[in-house]
Amino acid sequence: MVCASSKGLGFGCADALAAEGVNLVVNARSAGPLGEAAEQLRRHGVEAREVVGSVTDPSVRAALLDAAPQVDILVTNAGGPPPGDFRDWDEDAWLGALRQNMLTAVELIRATVDDMASRGFGRVVNITSGSVKAPIANLGLSNGARSGLTGFVAGVARQPQLASANVTLNNLLPGKFATDRIRETAGVAPGEELPVPEGIPAGRYGDPAEFGAACAYLCSEQASYITGQNLLLDGGAYPGTF
Ligand code: NAP
Repeated sequence: MVCASSKGLGFGCADALAAEGVNLVVNARSAGPLGEAAEQLRRHGVEAREVVGSVTDPSVRAALLDAAPQVDILVTNAGGPPPGDFRDWDEDAWLGALRQNMLTAVELIRATVDDMASRGFGRVVNITSGSVKAPIANLGLSNGARSGLTGFVAGVARQPQLASANVTLNNLLPGKFATDRIRETAGVAPGEELPVPEGIPAGRYGDPAEFGAACAYLCSEQASYITGQNLLLDGGAYPGTF
């Protein structure tokens, strides 16, 4: 199950998993782009079931769970919260961000990991953000909500009944990837070249396919001994040793 996956990082993950032969349930709010994405995924010879709707909606999550006969791999994702000044955010703004970037993932984890454990295999990968490691000043809603998810996952991943049953939970932290979201925030039209980013030693934006490859690795049998980790993919932008 790959949430929010018609485009960008979610699609990168779905595509890399499909290339490894994983059958998929994919999701997005807009049916058209989701249908096109699913069509592309099926070219890998796998099944790709589509569930249209916001993953923040409990009935859509129920439909996602219904669409998957069993969930061996869960990739959580949703849109990012808006930027702004914390002085302008009331409790509703916070509850919206928490629902989108923390509680939706928590609910899907709650619904799937014990069944994974009973089958002796499970992988959860949460798409969070580099902002968990290095906060971004105007993205307070993201910094806060995603850090909440990160703390929750850190605890759950270390539950012996999950870790000893080959169920791993990890987070992928994107730096700057060339997706529609980055284009929108940079004011660059689809198809137009993005300007060379500053402050990234790699000298370029990440490619969603690179992000997907990391996701596929964490979901592999080979990654069974990696759990509770936060993997930053940022072309060297974060300046710390750890
Ligand atoms: P994107 O290119 O805009 O793609 C977002 C995808 O998620 C689309 O398929 C979109 O389809 C779907 N989606 C959004 N909200 C949804 C919802 N509530 N329910 C179901 N599907 C939903 O964005 P992205 O760059 O891949 O970003 C993915 C996540 O990573 C976001 O949370 C973003 O904040 C975070 N992130 C991205 C970067 C980066 O460099 N790109 C960096 C740090 C963090 P619909 O619009 O049709 O629903």
